Amino acid sequence: MSTINTNFIVSPRWILPVIPRNSLLENHSLVVIENKIAHILPTADIPEKYPELTHLELPNQLLLPGLVNTHGHAAMALLRGYADDFELKTWLAEHIWPVENRLVDFDFVYDGTTLAIAEMVCSGTTTVADSYFFPNASAKAYIDHGFRAQVGLPIIHFPNAWANTEEEHINKGLGVRDTLKNQKLITPALAPHAPYSVTNAGFEQVRMYAEQLEMPIHLHLHETAAEVSDAIAETSKRPIQRMKELGILSPSLQAVHMTQITPQEMGELSQRQTHIAHCPASNLKLASGFCPVSDLMSHHVNVALGTDGAASNNNLDMIEEMKIAALMAKGMTGDASSLPVHQVIEMATINGAKFLGLEDKIGSLEPGKCADMISVDLSALKFQPMHNPASDLLYAASGDQVCHVWIDGEHQLSNRTLTNMDTARMRANARQWQAKILS
Ligand SMILES: [Zn+2]
Repeated sequence: MSTINTNFIVSPRWILPVIPRNSLLENHSLVVIENKIAHILPTADIPEKYPELTHLELPNQLLLPGLVNTHGHAAMALLRGYADDFELKTWLAEHIWPVENRLVDFDFVYDGTTLAIAEMVCSGTTTVADSYFFPNASAKAYIDHGFRAQVGLPIIHFPNAWANTEEEHINKGLGVRDTLKNQKLITPALAPHAPYSVTNAGFEQVRMYAEQLEMPIHLHLHETAAEVSDAIAETSKRPIQRMKELGILSPSLQAVHMTQITPQEMGELSQRQTHIAHCPASNLKLASGFCPVSDLMSHHVNVALGTDGAASNNNLDMIEEMKIAALMAKGMTGDASSLPVHQVIEMATINGAKFLGLEDKIGSLEPGKCADMISVDLSALKFQPMHNPASDLLYAASGDQVCHVWIDGEHQLSNRTLTNMDTARMRANARQWQAKILS
């Protein structure tokens, strides 16, 4: 890993710190000392206070916290465009699971995750919650490239290349967790796949280890109406009721998707302080349904944002995801004031940090927090005349305008060039995997 000077000053035109809410600073600078944000002060005061520090001036750029993607399957970057235009059940059972069973191994996950890291860095994401087979491989990719991640330890009832039984999944997962104890950028989480793919005995183990080891539980939940109706036919219970009875519905739970929620369930999610990952692009593409984000927020439920894997999105661009979330909320409620600009940016930053239990470290630009931050170039004609940089970020920009990225103070993207990754090698690896996938 490259270690560029970890003491430096960035002077953008604007800073969007996220906290205080809906604030924007103009002609201010941010000082990083030993990888942490030390001060934010007027740029005019910089020369006399810090004459010795490296100083990066970014005219026409907006500096904001690194984006937090709260749901993804990074290695599935290798399956981007492989199976489009199917609903979830058909997509998984007839297309995704067969190719995964045939090909997924340590190298697939390492190479796929590396490709996803490059895409995430280039589009402004600095933290991801990932869950996939071979979490030892994805963790290695995140560590090798200095990327912050919650690594989900997968648990699924069906045999696969990683493990054959739920018990084997848990044992192997806990083994991986032990190897990650001293990794400052990695947080392990238990990742039971979904209510329909994990047994009650599996969930009981998950609850026990989540409590004992203080680990979050990352779970696809109420992704589609069919998931709920199938569960009612089989068990006479909605999956969320089953999760409640199994002790899974708690502040440790990171519930992903949640497109089907009754008013009573809304109250329970709020009371139990369960976090939600909203993945609007994936939900739209698989025709899964609509997460009622505005209602959840009015019940004080923490809702964060995720892209899901690149096989169902088909990119990992969180700026695009923010725009889809904003538009979807307005369309669903018939109220154009639903999810205003600052609230959507919070979903992709501080709400994501809370979702991961990392709000003391990331999610806003405040002294004492880690220097996880990005700058977005707003000099193009499409942003003129610049009435509101936060609005331009959300509604007019895309990940392609991200210019600089720092993760834990390390400069990972400099003027749109990856500082720490071999792009030629990534392309060659992707071509090799394409040949294997199609063979
Ligand atoms: Zn998913």
